[in-house]
Amino acid sequence: MKIDIVTIFPDFFRGPLDFGILRRAREAGLVEVNIHDLREFTRDKHRTVDDRPFGGGEGMVLKPEPIFECIEKLNVASQEQRLAGQERESVILLSAQGQQLDQALAQELAALERMVLICGRYEGVDERVSEHLADREISIGDYVLSGGELGAAVIVDTVTRLIPGAVGNEASTRQESFTAGNDLAGDLVSPGSGPSSTCDSGGLLDYPHYTRPAEFRGMGVPEVLMNGNHDEIRRWRRRSALEKTLRNRPDLLDPATLSEEDRKLLAQVTGKKI
Ligand code: SAH
Repeated sequence: MKIDIVTIFPDFFRGPLDFGILRRAREAGLVEVNIHDLREFTRDKHRTVDDRPFGGGEGMVLKPEPIFECIEKLNVASQEQRLAGQERESVILLSAQGQQLDQALAQELAALERMVLICGRYEGVDERVSEHLADREISIGDYVLSGGELGAAVIVDTVTRLIPGAVGNEASTRQESFTAGNDLAGDLVSPGSGPSSTCDSGGLLDYPHYTRPAEFRGMGVPEVLMNGNHDEIRRWRRRSALEKTLRNRPDLLDPATLSEEDRKLLAQVTGKKI
């Protein structure tokens, strides 16, 4: 996948994209990230990228001209073609007012061939960029950041790890928190895959993980994880995932989509029939 990031702070990205999975994916050519300095697309000697808001009010607004010129130079498909779904390309404006990023949206973006991320600053970006240039606005959560750069880094990270080959063990990205859409979700058996002690999250939170030492400062590890009984381990993990989801993110628990087995496990946790 080709990723272009448009920003007034190109140096911001020295670091966040240079470690771990992201670094390896870039080195392996699975993703190519190009950073574009918005000031390169200004024409005045002060390289002005912002101006005061029409109608008055606080702060400054990023001007449309350099952003349009930058995107035009990138040779992406037209907004019309992109919106018609003819191209696997998307021009995205980072915005607190955008659609909120979640795992399902990250999966949708991971299927693209090219993604252009425009980072706002100050009070935001001239609305004509959202109306006529970008095909969508994405927010990384209900809070206000000082700029779109952190949001862009978050999108690049979460999307890259979903590109086949980026994560060593692909099965691990299917088992993680929020990852739904797997037929096995919630089932305690994995047909044809031999004994397995893991379970998919099925859109819930991941189950708890432990590693050595088994005893640390008087804190132990659940006995069941050490007995080698894959079925019991899988059941314990699923119950723990359900319990944690109920505690921290009850909004993710939709009784209608739970399997029979899940309901039983949840009933063990709550003491109530679900
Ligand atoms: N006035 C705007 C906030 C501007 S913050 C408002 O109230 O909605 C400046 C820039 O930071 C925005 O243009 C956007 O690019 C980025 N930004 C701020 N919060 C964000 C969020 N939650 N997700 C993604 N980008 C965000």
